[in-house]
Amino acid sequence: MIGPRELSTRSSLRRSREVRSLVLAALGGKCVRCGFADPRALQIDHVNGDGRAERGAPGARRESTIAYYKRVTLEAGNGRYQLLCANCNWIKRDENKEYGGRRKGLV
Ligand SMILES: [Zn+2]
Repeated sequence: MIGPRELSTRSSLRRSREVRSLVLAALGGKCVRCGFADPRALQIDHVNGDGRAERGAPGARRESTIAYYKRVTLEAGNGRYQLLCANCNWIKRDENKEYGGRRKGLV
């Protein structure tokens, strides 16, 4: 049986998917390196590799994923963000030595 809690979870999941599809579209809808266009493996990349500093600063109030997607959608034209597929994102991290301390937070 589906209760209010499940419904709420489902609708917030759907909302976050919708917001994600908007931000992916705003950023061109495909990997800027290889053109891969399957949204399941596309990730928002910070061109300057400063994503960890921006989202994970110690003591910083963590922005919700939806708020983050909305902000990136609004800032999509400013050249700060780009889309990379998972492969290209990892390759870029390796090339740029963007290892940081954590491996979480890929978005
Ligand atoms: Zn790629």
